[in-house]
Amino acid sequence: MATKNDAYLRTYREKRDFSKSSEPSGSQRAGDKSSARFVIQRHEASTLHFDFRLEVDGVLKSWAVPKGPSTDPSEKRLATETEDHPLEYADFEGSIPEGEYGAGTVSIWDSGSYQNITEQDGQQIPASEAIDSGHVKVELHGDRLSGAYALTRMRDRSNQTDWLLVKVADEAAERDHGGSGA
Ligand code: MN
Repeated sequence: MATKNDAYLRTYREKRDFSKSSEPSGSQRAGDKSSARFVIQRHEASTLHFDFRLEVDGVLKSWAVPKGPSTDPSEKRLATETEDHPLEYADFEGSIPEGEYGAGTVSIWDSGSYQNITEQDGQQIPASEAIDSGHVKVELHGDRLSGAYALTRMRDRSNQTDWLLVKVADEAAERDHGGSGA
Protein backbone atom coordinates (compact mmCIF):
# COMPACT_ATOMS: atom_id res chain seq x y z
CA MET A 1 0.00 0.00 0.00
CA ALA A 2 1.36 3.39 -0.93
CA THR A 3 1.56 5.73 1.99
CA LYS A 4 2.73 9.27 2.52
CA ASN A 5 5.83 7.74 4.07
CA ASP A 6 6.68 5.87 0.86
CA ALA A 7 6.43 9.08 -1.14
CA TYR A 8 8.54 10.91 1.40
CA LEU A 9 11.39 8.40 1.05
CA ARG A 10 11.11 7.71 -2.67
CA THR A 11 14.07 9.88 -3.71
CA TYR A 12 16.26 8.49 -0.94
CA ARG A 13 15.44 4.96 -1.99
CA GLU A 14 15.85 5.57 -5.72
CA LYS A 15 19.44 6.68 -5.15
CA ARG A 16 20.40 3.54 -3.27
CA ASP A 17 20.68 -0.21 -3.73
CA PHE A 18 19.95 -1.69 -0.36
CA SER A 19 21.21 -5.10 -1.45
CA LYS A 20 24.67 -3.52 -1.69
CA SER A 21 24.58 -0.76 0.88
CA SER A 22 23.94 -1.49 4.51
CA GLU A 23 22.23 1.87 4.88
CA PRO A 24 18.71 1.58 6.27
CA SER A 25 15.96 1.64 3.70
CA GLY A 26 14.17 3.97 6.07
CA SER A 27 11.02 1.91 6.15
CA GLN A 28 10.45 2.93 9.74
CA ARG A 29 11.05 6.63 9.29
CA ALA A 30 8.02 8.85 9.73
CA GLY A 31 7.34 11.67 7.37
CA ASP A 32 4.56 14.10 8.11
CA LYS A 33 2.01 11.32 8.20
CA SER A 34 -0.61 11.31 10.88
CA SER A 35 -0.25 7.58 11.48
CA ALA A 36 2.93 6.32 13.11
CA ARG A 37 4.18 3.21 14.85
CA PHE A 38 3.78 2.18 18.44
CA VAL A 39 5.30 -0.73 20.27
CA ILE A 40 4.93 -2.20 23.72
CA GLN A 41 7.88 -4.30 24.79
CA ARG A 42 7.74 -6.66 27.73
CA HIS A 43 11.00 -6.09 29.56
CA GLU A 44 11.95 -8.66 32.11
CA ALA A 45 14.65 -6.61 33.82
CA SER A 46 15.41 -6.42 37.55
CA THR A 47 11.73 -5.58 37.79
CA LEU A 48 9.28 -6.61 35.09
CA HIS A 49 7.72 -3.73 33.18
CA PHE A 50 6.27 -2.86 29.83
CA ASP A 51 7.93 -0.20 27.68
CA PHE A 52 5.32 1.82 25.83
CA ARG A 53 6.81 3.61 22.84
CA LEU A 54 5.28 6.02 20.34
CA GLU A 55 6.94 7.14 17.14
CA VAL A 56 7.09 10.92 17.25
CA ASP A 57 9.26 13.08 14.96
CA GLY A 58 11.62 10.26 14.05
CA VAL A 59 12.22 8.85 17.51
CA LEU A 60 10.38 6.57 19.90
CA LYS A 61 9.01 8.54 22.85
CA SER A 62 9.09 6.06 25.72
CA TRP A 63 7.45 5.27 29.04
CA ALA A 64 8.05 2.33 31.36
CA VAL A 65 4.74 0.95 32.64
CA PRO A 66 5.29 -1.43 35.59
CA LYS A 67 1.87 -3.06 35.39
CA GLY A 68 1.42 -2.70 31.65
CA PRO A 69 -1.55 -1.07 29.95
CA SER A 70 -5.11 -1.87 31.00
CA THR A 71 -8.13 -2.04 28.72
CA ASP A 72 -10.27 -0.92 31.67
CA PRO A 73 -10.81 2.89 31.74
CA SER A 74 -11.04 2.82 35.54
CA GLU A 75 -7.50 1.45 35.84
CA LYS A 76 -4.81 4.15 35.96
CA ARG A 77 -1.37 2.79 35.22
CA LEU A 78 1.80 4.55 36.28
CA ALA A 79 4.00 5.28 33.26
CA THR A 80 7.48 6.61 33.91
CA GLU A 81 8.94 8.65 31.07
CA THR A 82 12.26 7.27 29.83
CA GLU A 83 14.74 8.40 27.21
CA ASP A 84 13.86 8.61 23.50
CA HIS A 85 14.79 5.44 21.66
CA PRO A 86 15.74 5.09 17.98
CA LEU A 87 12.94 3.94 15.67
CA GLU A 88 14.83 0.71 14.99
CA TYR A 89 14.28 -0.21 18.62
CA ALA A 90 10.66 -0.98 17.82
CA ASP A 91 11.84 -4.25 16.29
CA PHE A 92 14.26 -5.15 19.05
CA GLU A 93 13.79 -8.41 20.90
CA GLY A 94 16.46 -10.27 22.76
CA SER A 95 18.48 -10.28 25.88
CA ILE A 96 20.54 -7.45 27.29
CA PRO A 97 23.62 -8.89 29.03
CA GLU A 98 23.97 -8.83 32.78
CA GLY A 99 25.77 -5.73 33.98
CA GLU A 100 24.42 -3.65 31.09
CA TYR A 101 21.70 -1.01 31.36
CA GLY A 102 18.31 -2.68 31.35
CA ALA A 103 19.81 -6.17 31.62
CA GLY A 104 17.22 -8.83 30.96
CA THR A 105 15.00 -9.99 28.15
CA VAL A 106 12.94 -7.83 25.85
CA SER A 107 10.06 -9.16 23.80
CA ILE A 108 7.47 -7.37 21.71
CA TRP A 109 4.14 -7.58 23.52
CA ASP A 110 2.17 -5.55 21.01
CA SER A 111 2.86 -3.31 18.05
CA GLY A 112 1.04 -1.56 15.28
CA SER A 113 0.19 1.91 14.14
CA TYR A 114 -1.33 4.75 16.08
CA GLN A 115 -2.91 8.09 15.37
CA ASN A 116 -2.42 11.16 17.48
CA ILE A 117 -5.91 12.38 18.38
CA THR A 118 -4.90 15.01 20.93
CA GLU A 119 -7.00 18.13 20.76
CA GLN A 120 -6.65 21.47 22.45
CA ASP A 121 -9.48 23.99 22.19
CA GLY A 122 -11.09 21.84 19.51
CA GLN A 123 -7.97 21.82 17.36
CA GLN A 124 -5.72 18.84 16.83
CA ILE A 125 -2.18 19.48 18.04
CA PRO A 126 1.00 17.64 16.99
CA ALA A 127 2.05 14.71 19.17
CA SER A 128 5.35 16.36 20.10
CA GLU A 129 3.52 19.45 21.32
CA ALA A 130 1.01 17.30 23.19
CA ILE A 131 3.78 15.40 24.97
CA ASP A 132 5.58 18.63 25.87
CA SER A 133 2.35 19.96 27.35
CA GLY A 134 1.92 16.80 29.42
CA HIS A 135 -1.15 15.28 27.79
CA VAL A 136 -1.34 13.13 24.70
CA LYS A 137 -4.20 11.03 23.41
CA VAL A 138 -3.59 8.30 20.86
CA GLU A 139 -5.67 5.75 19.02
CA LEU A 140 -3.86 2.42 18.86
CA HIS A 141 -4.21 -0.11 16.07
CA GLY A 142 -2.32 -3.07 17.49
CA ASP A 143 -2.79 -6.82 17.63
CA ARG A 144 -3.71 -6.78 21.31
CA LEU A 145 -4.66 -3.20 21.97
CA SER A 146 -7.01 -0.95 20.06
CA GLY A 147 -8.88 2.24 20.67
CA ALA A 148 -7.88 5.40 22.47
CA TYR A 149 -5.41 5.75 25.33
CA ALA A 150 -4.43 8.89 27.20
CA LEU A 151 -1.09 9.67 28.78
CA THR A 152 -1.10 12.49 31.29
CA ARG A 153 1.81 13.86 33.29
CA MET A 154 1.19 13.94 37.02
CA ARG A 155 1.72 17.59 37.77
CA ASP A 156 1.34 17.18 41.50
CA ARG A 157 4.49 15.11 41.68
CA SER A 158 7.93 16.52 42.25
CA ASN A 159 9.07 13.80 39.87
CA GLN A 160 8.13 15.19 36.45
CA THR A 161 8.73 11.84 34.77
CA ASP A 162 5.61 10.26 36.29
CA TRP A 163 2.64 9.98 33.96
CA LEU A 164 -0.59 8.00 34.02
CA LEU A 165 -1.63 5.74 31.16
CA VAL A 166 -5.41 5.30 31.01
CA LYS A 167 -7.74 3.65 28.52
CA VAL A 168 -10.27 6.11 27.13
CA ALA A 169 -13.85 4.83 27.38
CA ASP A 170 -14.75 3.73 23.84
CA GLU A 171 -15.88 0.61 22.00
CA ALA A 172 -12.49 -1.02 22.54
CA ALA A 173 -12.64 -0.53 26.32
CA GLU A 174 -13.33 -3.48 28.57
CA ARG A 175 -14.26 -3.29 32.21
CA ASP A 176 -13.45 -5.72 35.01
CA HIS A 177 -11.98 -8.49 32.86
CA GLY A 178 -9.62 -6.21 30.95
CA GLY A 179 -5.92 -5.83 31.49
CA SER A 180 -2.64 -6.81 30.02
CA GLY A 181 -2.46 -10.02 31.95
CA ALA A 182 0.65 -8.66 33.60
MN1 MN B 1 12.65 -1.14 29.88
